[in-house]
Amino acid sequence: MTRKIQVMLPMLGEEEANAAADAIRSGWVAQGPRVARFETEFATAVGAGHGIAVSSCTTGLHLALVLHGIGPGDEVIVPSLSFIATANSVRYVGATPIFADVDLATGNLTVETIDAVRTDRTRAIIAVHQGGMPFDTAALRKAADGWGLALVEDAACAAGSTAYGQPVGAGAAISAWSFHPRKVITTGEGGMITVDDPEAATRLRRLREHGMNVSAAERHASKQPVLEAYLETAYNYRMTDIQAAVGIVQLGRLPGLIAQRREIAARYQELLADIDGLVPVNDPAYGQTNYQSFIVLINPEYGTGRDEVLSELAARGVSARRGIMASHLEPAYADVTPGPLPVTERLTRDSLILPLHHEFTEDDQDYVVGILRELARP
Ligand SMILES: *Cc1c(COP(=O)(O)O)cnc(C)c1O
Repeated sequence: MTRKIQVMLPMLGEEEANAAADAIRSGWVAQGPRVARFETEFATAVGAGHGIAVSSCTTGLHLALVLHGIGPGDEVIVPSLSFIATANSVRYVGATPIFADVDLATGNLTVETIDAVRTDRTRAIIAVHQGGMPFDTAALRKAADGWGLALVEDAACAAGSTAYGQPVGAGAAISAWSFHPRKVITTGEGGMITVDDPEAATRLRRLREHGMNVSAAERHASKQPVLEAYLETAYNYRMTDIQAAVGIVQLGRLPGLIAQRREIAARYQELLADIDGLVPVNDPAYGQTNYQSFIVLINPEYGTGRDEVLSELAARGVSARRGIMASHLEPAYADVTPGPLPVTERLTRDSLILPLHHEFTEDDQDYVVGILRELARP
């Protein structure tokens, strides 16, 4: 009776395999018509005007900062409690990431935690919809406007999450998304930037493609030779048409995947309710998470520490994960001395992510919860 329960599993079927094969058979494998279609369909799905496909969310965040002209001497406020790429993107442009603390219930930045570290060198904020949990979009967007700061939304995990009745991409100045297999939909690797402003979209298309004023696809489609110009020093952050072909199929699955994730999450919440000291993630008052990560906070009443819970689960074939990392505790940021980050440190030390995916059965779930019930030692 050896179970093997994954924490996450991408939902990939024959449709994705065929779509990738069709792209290959078409002879056009680099950024082309499938990328263009994926951009339009994704932007529509997340409530934004324009999509610009990129090679990852990380490169998308980098371009968002380049777009805003952020550079050396500038400070960008980020949560330490995030995948390290959020903070790293600030260093790519030579600016300084400033770590702000987060809210205990959502794991996200708030107006207060941002305000506490804001200085006259602050130029931008990267706020994360952490693990799919939307931050308070109305509050943060209004505050950023009031302060005159650019607000870049790291929506890596948040495809399908909503705030105030709309997808989190709606009404955002700029958002970056990830299609890494650990997220709800995947293209292997890959990302997207979404914006409403058409001029920003044009510049971002140029920035991801060597600064060219016409794309390779446009040049190819033209009957006349087109001489491109390189308007600025830029990057190769393109997505391939093979990835986009997979992405188009995945996007069609998104509503169904989220409905299923929300059902499994609701059942976890029910089953965990009577275990003292375990606090499962839940929707905030203003929106809905896609439950990309089902995070559980362990309070002292539970009686068993997080790392022991993780090893017990692993010993019985259950792959769980520590909660979200804290970037300021990693060697890469050893040279940074942030202000106090008590909630960040608490969440990263005492939380874990439980398995949740489309092949995770009720029987698997009962098994996982059974172990957690056994480990409760009040
Ligand atoms: C996964 C993730 C990223 C990085 O996404 P990639 O597409 O792998 O570059 C960035 N930010 C957050 C919050 C993430 O969870």
